[in-house]
Amino acid sequence: MVVRRILFGAAVLLSVNFVPGYTQDFGYDGTSGPNFWGKTFHNCVGKHQSPIDIELTDVKVKKFPPLKFENFDMALEKVILKNNGHTVVLTVAEGQLPSVSGGPLEGTYLFAQLHFHWGKNDLEGSENLINNHSFPLELHMVFYKSSYNDFLHAANHSDGLTVLSYLFEAVESENHRYDKFEEELVKVQNLGATAEVHDFVPVQQFIIDDKDAYFTYLGSLTTPPCSEVVIWIEFRQTVPLSHDQIQTFRQLSGTHGRLEHNFRPIQPLFDRVIYMNSGSYTYIKYTAFLLTILGIMCQ
Ligand SMILES: [Zn+2]
Repeated sequence: MVVRRILFGAAVLLSVNFVPGYTQDFGYDGTSGPNFWGKTFHNCVGKHQSPIDIELTDVKVKKFPPLKFENFDMALEKVILKNNGHTVVLTVAEGQLPSVSGGPLEGTYLFAQLHFHWGKNDLEGSENLINNHSFPLELHMVFYKSSYNDFLHAANHSDGLTVLSYLFEAVESENHRYDKFEEELVKVQNLGATAEVHDFVPVQQFIIDDKDAYFTYLGSLTTPPCSEVVIWIEFRQTVPLSHDQIQTFRQLSGTHGRLEHNFRPIQPLFDRVIYMNSGSYTYIKYTAFLLTILGIMCQ
């Protein structure tokens, strides 16, 4: 009986440890790097993978309803920062969750977590590219569709998650909206380290104010299990951050030593269409230019 229990226990442990995609290790270099993810995580070689290169000449302009952000400007009652070996992740432990709706989304999506991707130096780091241009840092704010109840259930549906994605630009002066976060970031440099913070800054502090200038496309998680369940919303306006502030991210320790870079290379677009919201400033500027020309011609 005891032996049977032990065997049963071992079987449960084995099955839990080998749930595809959630427990096996992955990295960004060598044989654990992105080129090898597909061997263990079959979704990673799918046809709707992220990140991608957004070529401005190929995007299709479309007018989406306005994006609606809720609770973005409220202080977060209690948050947990964790170095999970692949990045630093911020989750909300107590208090009201930020949510997003509108734009390309049907229904409301609730905040699950935010995390970052970076590179060895300021010339690389972002996952998504624009006109093949890399940015030194990319912030992913991950939300799950509230009608699927929780993140894990949502991650099984093609419209289950949305990622609000923000690109960064390295500048000379510090962005003081990131002071509080940077203060906590140095506390989680060690692999597995966590920091609990009360009364943390609102998520609005992490991003830019322009909600209209964005690209959107259907894609995947950029880490294993690479599930193709993400509606990507990639904002065009960059967030400024100083070289030193970006450097702090590179001090984190990962599962394979210093986590100097953690971005996945771009994936083929295949049959997908990238949309640009027609409310975006690029579009408005272009339209204004055409109207001016027309006005001159009609005089
Ligand atoms: Zn990410």
